[in-house]
Amino acid sequence: MDRCSLPTPLFTFGVIADIQYADIDDGYNYTQTRRRYYRSSLQLLKNAQRSWSKSAVKPQFILQLGDIIDGFNKVHDTSERALDTVLREFNSSPVKVHHVWGNHEFYNFNRSALLHSRLDSRLHADGSPSGAPARADIYAYQFSPFPGFTFVVLDAYDVSLLGREESSEQYRNAMNVIKLHNNNDDLNCPPVSESLKQRFTMFNGGFSKDQLDWLDCVLSSADEKQERVTIVSHLPVHPNSTDPVCLAWNFNELLAILRSHSSVVCYMAGHAHDGGYCLDKDTGVHYLTLDGVIETPPNSDAYGTVSVYTDRMVLEGYGRVMNRVFMFS
Ligand code: ZN
Repeated sequence: MDRCSLPTPLFTFGVIADIQYADIDDGYNYTQTRRRYYRSSLQLLKNAQRSWSKSAVKPQFILQLGDIIDGFNKVHDTSERALDTVLREFNSSPVKVHHVWGNHEFYNFNRSALLHSRLDSRLHADGSPSGAPARADIYAYQFSPFPGFTFVVLDAYDVSLLGREESSEQYRNAMNVIKLHNNNDDLNCPPVSESLKQRFTMFNGGFSKDQLDWLDCVLSSADEKQERVTIVSHLPVHPNSTDPVCLAWNFNELLAILRSHSSVVCYMAGHAHDGGYCLDKDTGVHYLTLDGVIETPPNSDAYGTVSVYTDRMVLEGYGRVMNRVFMFS
């Protein structure tokens, strides 16, 4: 498709994932196979900010898809300082940032500290009757940047061992879920079993019934109004859009809800640093996993600008992020 032939978009937004900034030397991932550029990730965020600020149509908002700072900051007692550094970069422009929470947010901060923190962007939420899930400890909300378009931020660590007090009922429930499938002493180590079960690790999580019920309600309302809904969270939920070790625990329950609503057009996630994409042919929903900044070499980039039209969204990718067109079915 010739992008030059498209008219001015209705609006645009920026996407970036897994910055995982830390002021430490480069290192490697858990399996020692991928280099991680902890300091350079800040420069790659600067590159993205510069590009967004110079674009002809300025983004209306940025989606930060989680893991904004690395868990090593907790070890070095630099969580607040690292967060200051990254947020200073985001705040160098007046564009609103919607922060998604990933596992590294919970390595650095517990859930009660994150709620009402600088990473809680619910102040940008829409105050509609179905504006928030029933439980106040779930970080999920919706917003509408343009008439007819809704975005939903989901909490993929609502059911998780991360961020919850070990004495809490939620922690016990999450432990029961993971122990059904993972017998390893180190629960960060995936179970050796058929590929989809590898997702039952401590660095993943899932969506509670309260959150799924709320999402179902939001999507029913969007169906009625014939809106286009894009859903964002940290964990991928379609097996063909990611390495299965990165899937949300109950991805199938979330997929079932997304498949039952005509309003859903796109689901965006981070977490799997090599990215991924698939089109669900039955529903026409696009599942995008954005390439992670942290494993992107300093001479490249990893961010995108999405232009939204009445019949499609066009992702202009930079560096490792591929250009893609998401047609609305
Ligand atoms: Zn992650």
